Amino acid sequence: MTKLGEREWEAPDVDASASGDPQSRDLPLDSHLHTDQSPDSAVPIDAYAAEALARGIPEIAITDHVDFDPRDPAYRYTSYADRERTVRDAAARWGPRGVTIRFGVELTYHQDWDEAARDHLARRRYDYVIGSVHEWPDSPYIRSRVRGWVESRTLADVVAPYLEQVTAAARSGLFDTIGHFDVVKRYLNPFVTPGDLATQPELYEPALRAIVESGAALEVNSSGLRHLVAETYPAPATVTRFRELGGERVVAGSDAHRRDWFAFRLDQAYRLIAEAGFESLAFRRGEDHVRIALPAPRAA
Ligand SMILES: [Zn+2]
Ligand SMILES: [Zn+2]
Repeated sequence: MTKLGEREWEAPDVDASASGDPQSRDLPLDSHLHTDQSPDSAVPIDAYAAEALARGIPEIAITDHVDFDPRDPAYRYTSYADRERTVRDAAARWGPRGVTIRFGVELTYHQDWDEAARDHLARRRYDYVIGSVHEWPDSPYIRSRVRGWVESRTLADVVAPYLEQVTAAARSGLFDTIGHFDVVKRYLNPFVTPGDLATQPELYEPALRAIVESGAALEVNSSGLRHLVAETYPAPATVTRFRELGGERVVAGSDAHRRDWFAFRLDQAYRLIAEAGFESLAFRRGEDHVRIALPAPRAA
């Protein structure tokens, strides 16, 4: 399979020069990274490890894509054995230098593939598993369909198919973490804007409650800060609401697909997690479910 370019809804790169170095430093973990074992990234694993070492980020999770629909880009793109060997070999090289590399995965979830996902995870051993809903092939969130989809629908109806799948992902019990909770805003933008969605926060509530009840962690994914939506997935208010609903587990990741996106504005994700009242990140290292303390706040 050939490498994909940026998907068409990927924003042009943000102008990073305006605000200094946008890649964060001195954080305990970047939990969401894509290497050249994902169809939409060309980054060798050692590049991320080198960034981590240089930036004082002692732990990273490689979470390459696994898709279950043959029409999706990561369907059988690489084998489990290749991914595991690559990540474990790198972990052995970089561990002694001070960077711990975890073997994770980002599974694309949809109810139709629940059994395939369940079977995959039952037979494989990952350190850490993210379940994410993306714009599946028959979904209304494919770029060419979005305008027509939003035209004559209420906001509730517009987001319902996406949130139904997020809820199902949480209830599946398969995942340590639910990835980029409200990434649907990226697919809908600009026909529905993040501002439009912010007017009806109650739409997210059933899915948020499902995550709380499942015990899965809510990911705060900083990649939205380099997209046109210009906010994290999910937005800060949603992280706060998650805690109010009883959510106890959150984690932060940059979802980098390029070397210069490693830890991109990850400090903002950490900051909003702290501001929402959390004191630690919830993460898994194989058999060990761990809490990682948030760094002490720094002067701006
Ligand atoms: Zn994703
Ligand atoms: Zn990702």
